Parts: sequence; C-alpha cells; structure tokens
Amino acid sequence: MTRVYLSPPHMGGEELRLVEEAFETNWIAPLGPHVDAFEQEMALKIGVPHACALSSGTAGLHLALLMLGIGRDDEVVTSTLTFSATANAITYVGAQPVFVDCHASTWNMDPELLAEYLERRAGQGKLPKAVAVVDLYGQCADYGPLQATCARYAIPLLEDAAESLGATYQGRSAGSFGEMAVFSFNGNKMITTAGGGMLVSHNKTYTDRARFLATQARDPAPHYQHSTIGYNYRLSNVLAAIGRGQLRVLDERVAARRANFSFYQSALGDLPGLTFMPEAPYGMSTRWLTCILIDPAAFGASREDIRLALEKQDIESRPVWKPMHLQPVFQGCATVGGDVAASLFESGLCLPSGSSLSLSDKQRVVSIIHEVHDAARRG
Ligand SMILES: *Cc1c(COP(=O)(O)O)cnc(C)c1O
Repeated sequence: MTRVYLSPPHMGGEELRLVEEAFETNWIAPLGPHVDAFEQEMALKIGVPHACALSSGTAGLHLALLMLGIGRDDEVVTSTLTFSATANAITYVGAQPVFVDCHASTWNMDPELLAEYLERRAGQGKLPKAVAVVDLYGQCADYGPLQATCARYAIPLLEDAAESLGATYQGRSAGSFGEMAVFSFNGNKMITTAGGGMLVSHNKTYTDRARFLATQARDPAPHYQHSTIGYNYRLSNVLAAIGRGQLRVLDERVAARRANFSFYQSALGDLPGLTFMPEAPYGMSTRWLTCILIDPAAFGASREDIRLALEKQDIESRPVWKPMHLQPVFQGCATVGGDVAASLFESGLCLPSGSSLSLSDKQRVVSIIHEVHDAARRG
C-alpha cells in the first residue's frame, strides 16, 4: 500500500497540454502568455480586477508589506495561529510581528482582541503599520468587524488567503478583502503550480508595482538601470500553465475537500471527545484540511495517540499549526491573548484531506481512529 499524504497535488487533466504549449512556443521564462492568462483568470475567479503571478505566496506577502511602506521597527499585527510564512515575511522588511489570538468559533483572528489592542496602541500613540489577517485552513476570517476596526485607525489590512482559495465570506471570495491579498500554489494547497503565488488587489497601482519589484526593479531604459532594490519573484510561464489547468477544476477540488469533511464528520462525529473545526455561519469554508480536536479525558486517548496510530499505517496527519507566539524564533514578540490558539495546537489534528483521497483510504483513517478509541476504552 502506498503512503497516504495530508494534502497531495491533484492534477486536473489539461495541465500537461498547457505545459506543452509553453514548450512549443518556447516561453520557458518567468513571463509569457500563460502568466498573463493565469493572472486574468485568477482575477476573474476571485472577483478582484488585478493580479500579479509570483514565485510563491511568501514572495507575495513580502512585496505587499514593502508596498505598504512597512520597514524597520514598524509593528505589524498578525494571527498567531498560522504557518510561519506570514510572520517570516514581516521580519523580511525589518518589522516586528504582534501576534493576536484566534476565536474558538472560527480559528481565525479574534476581532475583539484586535479592536482592544488597536485602542490601547492608539492611546499610546504607537499604532501598528498594518494588520495581516490569515484565512485559516480554508475559512475566511471575520472581515466585517476586522475591516471596520482597521478603517477606524486607517491601518491597511493585508489578507493572507494562501490556504483559502475558493472560500467565501458573505458571498464574496477569499482574496477580495483588504488592500491586497495573497494566494499560494505550493504543492499542498487547494490547487498547485508546484510552487507559486498570486498577489491580487482592487488597486492596479499595487499589482503594477509588484510586477516591477518582482522583476528586479528595472527602470524603463534600453540598458539595465535601477533606482530601487528589486527581487526575482515572478512565476515561470511553465508553472503558470499548470496553474491555468488547475484553476479550471478549482470548484471540483473545493467540493471534494468538503465531501472529505462530511465523510469524516458522519463517521467520527459521534465519538466522545472528538469535535471538528467549526464552519462560521458567515461564509463557506473550502475545508482545505479537515481538522479535529481531541479531548483526551472524554476520548480516552490523545491527539498524538491518533497521529502515531495513523503513521504506523503509513498515513500522514499533522498537528494543527503551532502558534507563532510559541515558536522559539518569535520568542519575546508581543502577543495578545494566545491561549485559544495554544489549546487548538495541543488537541488539534489535521486528517488526510486531499481532493484525490479515495473512499477506501478515508475508511482506513476512520477505522484507525475508532480502533484507538476502542482500545483506550478497553483500557
Ligand atoms: C502556505 C502558506 C503561505 C506561504 O505560501 P508559499 O507559496 O508556500 O510561500 C503563507 N501563509 C499561509 C497561511 C500558508 O499556509
């Protein structure tokens, strides 16, 4: 039997033909017709007018922070429950991350904690320069109150939608909130280009500037002329071809991941001490990853017991993100709350969630979890 991965790539069928087109036309470069088309198709899908294809989601976050004018010793507020890329990008520009806890009902940034923190900092005359909000595990953050709070203090909001392509909030797509939003096409995300990202915005100034900075900041001149520091962050035309094929099956991928969740929920939902990441009533989660919480006292075994039992059968699962305020590298950074995220990390597990996951593999996952529970009950 082959290993079951957490969230493997899942090609749609047209990718290879589109890649061949790149070869036939010799656009083997970080620019070309697939890059342009991928940007247009993404913008259309998200309902945001402008997009810039990049080599990674992290590159997009880095450029977005640069374009917001964030620099040395500025403060940027972000979610503590996230992948490290969000916080890493803040440090790339020399700024200090401030980590805000999540709300248990969404696993995303708690809007009340953000409001309290900004009120306190306004009183001290030391407001942060930006708020980078993460849409976790396929679910949008609560943008109504988050945007209102940022607007009250005129602080730009940046949306890290790396995990949430295809999700909605009050009928609007993930990636349409804030000054700019960033997607990732890493191998484990909703759709993949092997590696890649996209910066989207309602404001063309940002995507134009991103394109300029991502191609080594070349001033208009026949020779190579530079008046600012540039980066090599553009997406390859070959990889954009993969992205175009993937985008065509995005809706099916969302449906498949939501079906994974429903399967797990109906097969595991009755076990004592086992609960699921909630879907907030304000939108649709893609269920990028199906996440469960284990209360060891009620379940009889721990999150780790389940993870190790799955691993023994060559099935990959992962603890929920370890919050940034608990990471050695971010020791000493300011944190607002943090106990909710810490407890989700303690008891949370992400189950195999790929859109190509077979029914028999899902059944194996479910029966292993039942076995762990039954064994614990027998003592
Ligand atoms: C994956 C991810 C990123 C980084 O995307 P890359 O394309 O891998 O650089 C950023 N933020 C979050 C929340 C992610 O999950």
